[in-house]
Amino acid sequence: MKTRKIKRVSTSMPTMEGAGVHLHRAFGNNDVTLFDPFLLFDDFRSDTPEHYKKGFPWHPHRGIETITYMLKGSAEHGDSLGNKGIIGRGDVQWMTAGSGIIHQEMPKGDSEGKMEGFQLWANLRAADKMMHPRYRDISAEEIPTVTLDGGATVKVICGQVGKVRGPVEDVMIEPEYLDVKLPANTVFVHPTPEDHNVFAYVHAGSGRFDEMSSDELGNKSLVLFEPGEQVMITAGDEELRFLLVGGKPLGEPVAWRGPIVMNTQEELQQAFEEYRNGTFIKHD
Ligand code: FE
Repeated sequence: MKTRKIKRVSTSMPTMEGAGVHLHRAFGNNDVTLFDPFLLFDDFRSDTPEHYKKGFPWHPHRGIETITYMLKGSAEHGDSLGNKGIIGRGDVQWMTAGSGIIHQEMPKGDSEGKMEGFQLWANLRAADKMMHPRYRDISAEEIPTVTLDGGATVKVICGQVGKVRGPVEDVMIEPEYLDVKLPANTVFVHPTPEDHNVFAYVHAGSGRFDEMSSDELGNKSLVLFEPGEQVMITAGDEELRFLLVGGKPLGEPVAWRGPIVMNTQEELQQAFEEYRNGTFIKHD
């Protein structure tokens, strides 16, 4: 089996979004094709309510999917069609914006004011950009946990570990989204379709992300892998926690402005024009 080597390592960088939310961006619109089919990954963990409580008030999305995973606290979600919900501890919301939604997302801390969550944006292929919007709300209890012989504990949000499949199915880019807890000095080996783009994001502890590297990577490290048939990840002297995400590249042109991602500038202009004149929402 060809083990993936590390292609690029970086650290998520502080930035501000929404109504003044301080967050860390692992990648975004500086790296448009590097992570294809993924567009953006934000880490909004914070112990400071002032840094997140203003949230992300009403804004549109078109042409993408947003995947929100909460580890502490919650996020209240509402959209212009009247859909409402709370993404709680351990829950995932897989939202396909498709032709368009207008929504708000308001993070809330736990009893100690701590909030931990991640948001991933996945691109939709041209043929699906104007599809009917849909939500998949996945509660923590619906996400299976697998314990591997090597000691790793894996929450399977999407994709497959051993014989266990995650609850999110029927997504064109065949994504995989795993939350892995790896005890100190143990190894996690996981097969990956060779041509998929795969990245890991560390959220606790530290570890080595290929066979060759001696450097341990810690909290907020982002690792993009070269193509290959499996990943091999080794925890350091303390428990390592990371998200492992992969998907099939689309290889299509990307036209991106703010929360809307299409294939051409014309489609972008049309989307913003429709948003201004009130014809943005196509399906309800
Ligand atoms: Fe949003």
